[in-house]
Amino acid sequence: METTRPRPAVESSRLDASPKRLLIGGDWVPARSGQTFPSINPSTGEVIGELAEGGAADADAAVIAARRAFEGPWSRFTPQQRQNVLLQLADIVEANIDELRLLDVLDMGAPIRRTRRSNRVVETLRYFAGWTTKIHGETVPNSVPGHFSYTVKEPVGVCANIVAWNGPLGAAVSKIAPVLATGCTVILKPAEEASLTAIRLGELIQELDLPPGVVNIVTGYGHTAGAALTEHRDVDKVHFTGSTATGQRIVRASAGNLKRLSLELGGKSPDIIFADADIEAAATGAAMSVFANSGQVCYAGTRVFVERPVYDEVVARMSQIAESLVVGNSLDEATDIGPVVSQAQLDRVTGYLRAGAEEGARTVAGGSRREDGDLAAGYFVAPTVFADVEDDMRIAREEIFGPIAAVLPFDTVEEVTARANRSEFGLGGGVWTRDIGRAHGVAAALKTGMVWVNGYGVGDPAMPHGGVKMSGWGREYSIHGLDEYLDVKSVWIRTDI
Ligand code: NAD
Repeated sequence: METTRPRPAVESSRLDASPKRLLIGGDWVPARSGQTFPSINPSTGEVIGELAEGGAADADAAVIAARRAFEGPWSRFTPQQRQNVLLQLADIVEANIDELRLLDVLDMGAPIRRTRRSNRVVETLRYFAGWTTKIHGETVPNSVPGHFSYTVKEPVGVCANIVAWNGPLGAAVSKIAPVLATGCTVILKPAEEASLTAIRLGELIQELDLPPGVVNIVTGYGHTAGAALTEHRDVDKVHFTGSTATGQRIVRASAGNLKRLSLELGGKSPDIIFADADIEAAATGAAMSVFANSGQVCYAGTRVFVERPVYDEVVARMSQIAESLVVGNSLDEATDIGPVVSQAQLDRVTGYLRAGAEEGARTVAGGSRREDGDLAAGYFVAPTVFADVEDDMRIAREEIFGPIAAVLPFDTVEEVTARANRSEFGLGGGVWTRDIGRAHGVAAALKTGMVWVNGYGVGDPAMPHGGVKMSGWGREYSIHGLDEYLDVKSVWIRTDI
């Protein structure tokens, strides 16, 4: 929908015409191949930047720089010095947050109002700053005569952290903060669809008193730059956020030197609405969990199970919400729903719109690409509600990563938890009910890494984020996310000689 509201001034040093470079060992350098690739604004289809196309040679140079920093000056930083680095970075990011958010808006299509909704990245940096001075092992009573024993926590080493495009700033910060907290070093590979925010973050990191090579940034494609990092024999750990298919490739690629792996992968999360719930809150929460960020949220509650007595009411309310949302250029203050990230994603999502209709689901709202007026140049999809969905339809089984809700009726609590768990994924899950016993029972029964009761999707740096089954390995954020970057060493001392 067109809007007459003014757009904010588009000002960022990252939007000049010069090709962006790779950050390797403290220097901004072109790709060794000299190749570049374009970054596109998904609201308009316009090229907004040229990025260095890093390849295997660049990945190798970055790993060498990261190793040198890990074994050199960075290893001598005290916990308090690392804490100061993180606190300084938090201040710098906070001072530049408007520009960083704007880059997410232009490069990835995040609606500008949505980007302002939380200060999560700054909070994340301050949260991990707190941990730097609290990383410790334990003295452990043992039963071996004449021996004292203790454990020490040590940084894992050189990390290759590879991220998706659906929240570029948050993804980059979540992959750098625990690295700095633990004393690891990193090669960050942003997604090829949206790398500008990570590059700007790299420039801001250059303002810190940090040895060269602690944070390196290699832009490029997954099958070249990404694959080279995951295969590299001198990378100790990969922390990956992306699709399950790529996660499986990374498991195979990492076998050469048995890297530590943390995998934040895809989902097809159930959101269960019981008849006794606050139906207005439940329908709104369920709808926005699927439509926000154009459905490009890993834990989106895309399988909405609704108890039969309130099924028609919830479908009708979700459809009203879908139709009332303003779809538009991400820069517009009025926009609720921006574009999906790319032409490829548009093709994928519209393919599922066709699949849903062909498999017999009833389209109650949306159901097509939006091409009216200015929207024709971008990659917009109407928020869509499919009703009368059955469990074996593709739209109920496969991750779409677009604004498409599949709404399914159910009759009993046993039936719905069994159906909710009949998925290869296990990332998020929601329960809407006023019955506290049932809320706890369903939360316990869901085979997922995260559950929300009478809400959906809230997060905090102190709470673990991640999934089970094919949604991944390990956790991000919280003390569990910190531990992903630490090895435990056992030390034995003879006391009887
Ligand atoms: P993707 O797997 O295609 O790409 C993600 C990243 O991996 C990109 O940087 C890409 O360049 C890189 N990559 C691709 N092939 C590679 C290879 N062979 N070796 C190494 N790196 C490679 O995923 P996507 O389509 O960009 O992102 C969407 C997916 O991310 C969805 O499945 C979504 O659920 C998932 N995701 C999960 C979480 C989570 O926390 N669980 C968060 C955000 C997104």
